[in-house]
Amino acid sequence: MSFPLQTTTLRASSTAAAVAYTAAITLDSTTAVATSSFAANIDELVADSDNFVRLPQATGIAALVADTDTSDSSKQRQLISALVAPKDLISLIPTLRALGRQQRPSLVIHVPVSSAADVSDVLAVRDSGSAILRSMSQQDAVDYAVAASIAAQRLGTPIVHCFPAESGDSAEFQGYAAPSTQEAIRAYLQAEKDSDESAHDAVRQALAAVVGEERELVSYFGAKDAQVVYVTFGNVVSQAAVSAVAGVGVVQISLARPLNPSALKQAVPASAKRVVALDQTRRAEAGWGPLFFDLALVAWEHRPILLNAVLPSSPAGLDTVTPEQLEAINAHALTLASPAHFNAAAVGSIPEDASATPQPIDEGAVSEAATVGAYGQLLRDAFGLRLRVANASESRSIWGDGGRAESTPEFGFGRLAAEAQERARLVAAVTAVLRDVKVPLSRELHAALAEWLGSRDDPAKASASAAAQLSELLKAEAAGNLALEDIVRLQAHFAVQSNWLVGGDAWAYDIGGSGVHHVLSSGMNVNVLLVDTAADPTAVQRGGARKKDIGLYAMNYGSAYVASVAVYASYAQVLQALAEADAFPGPAVVVAYLPRAATAIGVLQQSKRAVDEGAWPLYRWDPRLDPGSFQLDSEKLRRELADFLKRDSALAAVSRAAPKLSAAIAPVSVEAQAGDRLARKARGDVDALMAGLTVSGPPLLILFASDGGNGEEAARRLAKSARRRGMTVRCMGMDEYDFEELAYERNLLISVSTAGQGEIPTAGREFLKALLATTANLSETAFAVFGLGDSHYWPRAEDAVFYNKPARDIDRRLAELGARRIVGPGLGDDQDADGWEAGFGAFDSELWQALNLDVVSSAADEPEEPPARTDEENKVISNFLRGTISQALADTSTGAVDEWDGKLLKFHGTYMQDDRDVRAARLARGEEKAFSFMIRVRLPGGVATPAQWLAMDALASEHGNQTMKITTRQTFQLHGVLKRNLRETMRGINRGLMDTLAACGDVNRNVVASANPLQAHLQPEVARLASDISTHLLPATSAYHEIWLADEQVAGSAEQTSATTDYEPLYGPNYLPRKYKIAIAIPPENDVDVFAYDLGYIAILDDAQENILGYNVVIGGGMGMTHNNKATYPRLATCLGYVPKDRAVIVSEKVMLVQRDHGDRTNRKHARLKYTVDDHGMDWWREQVEARLGFSFEPARPYAFTRNGDRYGWTKSTPGLNNFTIFIQNGRIADLPGSPLKTALADVARKHTGNFRLTCNGHLIIADVKDEDVDSIARLLASHRLDNLDYSALRLHSMACVALPTCALAMAESERYLPRLIDLLDEVIDQAGLRSDAIVIRMTGCPNGCARPYNAEIAFVGKAPGAYNLYLGGSHRGDRLNKVFRETVTEDQILEVLTPIIKQYAIERLEGEHFGDFVIRKGIIKATREGKDFHDI
Ligand code: SF4
Repeated sequence: MSFPLQTTTLRASSTAAAVAYTAAITLDSTTAVATSSFAANIDELVADSDNFVRLPQATGIAALVADTDTSDSSKQRQLISALVAPKDLISLIPTLRALGRQQRPSLVIHVPVSSAADVSDVLAVRDSGSAILRSMSQQDAVDYAVAASIAAQRLGTPIVHCFPAESGDSAEFQGYAAPSTQEAIRAYLQAEKDSDESAHDAVRQALAAVVGEERELVSYFGAKDAQVVYVTFGNVVSQAAVSAVAGVGVVQISLARPLNPSALKQAVPASAKRVVALDQTRRAEAGWGPLFFDLALVAWEHRPILLNAVLPSSPAGLDTVTPEQLEAINAHALTLASPAHFNAAAVGSIPEDASATPQPIDEGAVSEAATVGAYGQLLRDAFGLRLRVANASESRSIWGDGGRAESTPEFGFGRLAAEAQERARLVAAVTAVLRDVKVPLSRELHAALAEWLGSRDDPAKASASAAAQLSELLKAEAAGNLALEDIVRLQAHFAVQSNWLVGGDAWAYDIGGSGVHHVLSSGMNVNVLLVDTAADPTAVQRGGARKKDIGLYAMNYGSAYVASVAVYASYAQVLQALAEADAFPGPAVVVAYLPRAATAIGVLQQSKRAVDEGAWPLYRWDPRLDPGSFQLDSEKLRRELADFLKRDSALAAVSRAAPKLSAAIAPVSVEAQAGDRLARKARGDVDALMAGLTVSGPPLLILFASDGGNGEEAARRLAKSARRRGMTVRCMGMDEYDFEELAYERNLLISVSTAGQGEIPTAGREFLKALLATTANLSETAFAVFGLGDSHYWPRAEDAVFYNKPARDIDRRLAELGARRIVGPGLGDDQDADGWEAGFGAFDSELWQALNLDVVSSAADEPEEPPARTDEENKVISNFLRGTISQALADTSTGAVDEWDGKLLKFHGTYMQDDRDVRAARLARGEEKAFSFMIRVRLPGGVATPAQWLAMDALASEHGNQTMKITTRQTFQLHGVLKRNLRETMRGINRGLMDTLAACGDVNRNVVASANPLQAHLQPEVARLASDISTHLLPATSAYHEIWLADEQVAGSAEQTSATTDYEPLYGPNYLPRKYKIAIAIPPENDVDVFAYDLGYIAILDDAQENILGYNVVIGGGMGMTHNNKATYPRLATCLGYVPKDRAVIVSEKVMLVQRDHGDRTNRKHARLKYTVDDHGMDWWREQVEARLGFSFEPARPYAFTRNGDRYGWTKSTPGLNNFTIFIQNGRIADLPGSPLKTALADVARKHTGNFRLTCNGHLIIADVKDEDVDSIARLLASHRLDNLDYSALRLHSMACVALPTCALAMAESERYLPRLIDLLDEVIDQAGLRSDAIVIRMTGCPNGCARPYNAEIAFVGKAPGAYNLYLGGSHRGDRLNKVFRETVTEDQILEVLTPIIKQYAIERLEGEHFGDFVIRKGIIKATREGKDFHDI
């Protein structure tokens, strides 16, 4: 922890700046408030401090906090200190509430408020679980800020600290350098913590340590025998005013949460007849302020009359209430004889602040209109101008007296539906105008409309003010422009609204007949707020009608957000629920409690009782989240439940005999469990029904769990065999099965793969958990288990226990439960020559023999399943890549396509993927996986225009997951595109004058070329060659155009397609055996890793290094391999010879044709060109290619590579043109909190007039910037911090593939994990003094090697979650493969292994020696000479 303890005097021109100095890292979101009185002074701090981070909005803080909330215990007490404008606090409520429960990281939020200001926004977070502290003077502000930081560090409880916003004249603040102060703070932090130490105690003690004296957090001044005592949070009433008015005292609260009621009670003299809560808040629910309710909860022995004086505004120019005003307020207070509230501003004739809106306040009993108005006020506070209440919510009729049609939900829903249609028309109109190049539009209006289209559903961007600006632009160009007519007519819908229907509990009596039902079933983004005013919320009858539980009813739909709230029980929870309902992209129902009662105190007490006793539980339910989608928010119930569960856990620990109980303590809600069970049961019932309808033999259940598909394949084969033997078969995933039914199964077969370190695949976890926990008697069940694993996956002898562990565990457990084993577990081993199938064959025959079914009944009438198709057959019968893709796209019943269309789609540049983060949860609920598609663009040479960049940016926002990836193939990749948007996205890419044809599949892929900016004068030539080769080798099929681009979508099929028959002159109907990749490099830079490709061109330059003469041609490179399969290996390309440059294109064709004709089409693991090269040798290859070329290669010419990384920053090689290379971590273009990279690059694209060049290392070059534009582009880059290259050279030379969550093949994290690993390695690198020494480091999530790991000096290849193989010894020039150094290492082991080697390198390296060369010279690792010896260690 670091505080400015080193200074005795802190100099700063504002309190805010001084406060900001009190933390190690300060985040600032206050600059969003243009009117902030201190915003300007913050600049001083920004200039001074590295520890100051500016965020555009407070939600960035929430994201940062979420990001630091890791399981890493070292981060448990990380302190984040933030400066936040009062109005932004509400958006932090979810963060504060979550932190209040989790207690990490430590968060202190400093909020500037003026001394007499409205503190509504601050007190709005009073139920969030955070402490709320207020300092009254400028020195106090710094003292309290330090104390808050210390207390937050100690407790983990978030603290909101309000301090005086005024800058004042003071420029010096007392510091904390005195040894005694430092010692006191240290002693306090190290002192053992009482288990019940409260935030109140912690703040007090921290303050004492800082200022060296005890300070009261509730203090009193004024007459000892005061008759009227004012309670304030802040210093709105001065000592001078109190002295001037007889019989008056003031209790000043510095810590509003947690409020210490006994301190409050003690502070008030027993003489007080009236205790007045002086609430400085406009947000006074039902007119009553929050302080008043605090007074109401104190047990007063002398029973003073409690009053509430609401002072809703900041009096202009007034620091505190004057003596005269206090006199008037006091006189009025003395006239009131029962609990009442009044407007102190009006009584005291205090001038109102024009910006605040004081509410008229009735004195006396609370009225119904006032109470229900509380929720209306909350909606206004939460959404401001965005709020759209569509029915007549302010009408009294809405609260249940039958009223007018316009108060009904149907009425409001109809209006909202109409408005949604209008907005959809506006979107269509804007889209049409933007697409039509003939529509005359200024650049400004074009950009503004495009911006709106891309962010139209983002409330921060599509705001009312942004809409007004857009309308202004439109107005200036609309006259006479007919194309803009529709947009002008519909412009009222530019701003995104928060749509609400508001009603009373009368709606609950006839849900089915009411609009609530329509809203829920519509799926529209409409929110319903229902206020239940019943005195007894549990009463189910009214006037003979039955009241329904709307919350439960809505949850049953399974697709609506649902929350239950009560404003007088938890104000913050209401705000959080409203915000979540608004953000939920579908219907949302918030049921709100507000009991009818005669007095405000009655409302409060009844609310508290109903919530605490569970009659009105507070909860929130988001159907998208699982587990934990059901959040119980009633604090008392939560505590009781937690206590109960603690006892339950203790019981479970001493006795394992009650597995049902252990299921009850799982952190999944009862509702979720019940829902999952129902879903599984429904699926099981359907399967059982179908099985019963089709066959009537003995029943057999086959369950499988498999990550890679082999376990499922084995299960399907067993099912087929069983059906042929006349059995009634159900075959399903383990977690789709209703476990409760297991005891009723008679015959059970299990097929299960092994994942990670002997773990069961994700889709079998729940089943195994339940199996281990159950005590069911399975004596009626006969079973057999087949497992799939790899006996050599884990290298150490003691790891043999992991081999096929899930299968052996299940087999053992079933036998323990009394089930009868038909045969012992069958074990398939990937190490067998035939892989797992060898073990399967033995198991299969043993099984049927044991059942006396080894002879298949001749009477079996189950038709043979068609034989599985091979990839080669699939290509041939696809009718030139059509397959049934069009039908699959038209099928809206699923987000997926079948396996065979999926394989064909790759040729069209897209892969089907699913979100593996949510896979298990969805499968457990019986839902299909969260399917989406990755799209890769064909972009030869990686060159894109700014317009193309913007096109991709917009598509990523509109149809993708809001991000783009610059891939190692030097092109754009989109992720998360849903099937229904696939065609539109493809069309968008083509409108941007790009395409995706052959970006994946068994064809020539995107051709990459050097982007080295130091040789920018040669780049156009190699980019052109890349484009020429790409065009020359492009598949000729018309399927791409037919499926994606034709105006009418043709339901093409393999049998009948377009009128003209396609013909593939180069590929033929079965295309290539595997992918074919080409790269072009210009020495001395090997930024493309030219040896990693099937075919590589190395440019040979003239003596002046100005012109390309020709190319050395290399073949047979490739990265992919399979763990533990030595027949697979990475290989670097070897040289065929030299050709003049005008022969380069034809060489690409002829090399490809040799591979087409001689590549292995029987085994895809042996089908890459590299294996054909090793199978036949280079001489054979040279003969084959030359025979097709009709000329010979010349001998290879000399060249030298020096490096394979990118060059960052500004470079210039072509006269008049400049280039700037931006470091992009792992190529991911995304807007992250505090780093809106995607937005920033789109901004650059709007201003830049040159090109973009994507590099093969995943970075970006702003290319061809004219000399005269350099300054403006540099300024623009700086303003977005895109010119920041202050990273270690290790990070600048890092690269990771996508891996989880989207890549189906990933075995471990890669892109999401490498940055963290580099953080840790950077510490070692810094200690070794190697921050500026480049070491190429790469990571992939599986051995396929998309990020070219085997060419790196240090590489990690995923093996299992959290475990990687570590490779060392690649060259810095990309011309030597590395070799495995340690297998299956975790993070700790990586650091342990690498730290001494890195330190040794720092000390013992030769001049200019790179890390990869060093580890070989020192004998740390053996050099890999060629692919075939890659596995020799
Ligand atoms: S290397 Fe493996 S995990 Fe990474 S993107 Fe490629 S296939 Fe997926």
